[in-house]
Amino acid sequence: MSEHDTSKSPSAFRTAEPDYRWQGVECRPYKEDDRALFKAVTRQVLFSDQNLAGELRYFEVAPGGFSTLERHAHVHGVMIFRGAGHCLVGDEVRAVGERDLVSIPPMTWHQFRATGASPLGFLCLVDAVRDRPQLPTADDLAALEADPAIAAFLRGAPAPAG
Ligand code: MN
Repeated sequence: MSEHDTSKSPSAFRTAEPDYRWQGVECRPYKEDDRALFKAVTRQVLFSDQNLAGELRYFEVAPGGFSTLERHAHVHGVMIFRGAGHCLVGDEVRAVGERDLVSIPPMTWHQFRATGASPLGFLCLVDAVRDRPQLPTADDLAALEADPAIAAFLRGAPAPAG
């Protein structure tokens, strides 16, 4: 096999590049679902292989941006990788920063927001085969907004970490 044969497997090594990019990894605007509301999010799939039951992705939310508010049967294992922000899991809003871990259980509302001056980047481990996210109905949103801390979070103005 020639060194330039493009049909061969990708290299085992993919070097980190500046600005939280990786060699050979496409950086795409996040648009998994046309129905979903989100703002200023990119996605890079770091590991996806038919021999793996999971995928590892790197998402980055620009300042003022947010991921989709959603829930689903599959779970997420998340490590905050860059910057800081706030995260909603279920009925809890927390300030999060680099190397913090966030576990998203099944059928639990969740959203990440870059509430500070820096981007919020996080690694997200997920099942390769997974159900489609559900979006909140008006009733779901009303129930979430009944909690003042969640209402402030959804407005993009969470309480300062204390
Ligand atoms: Mn999700």
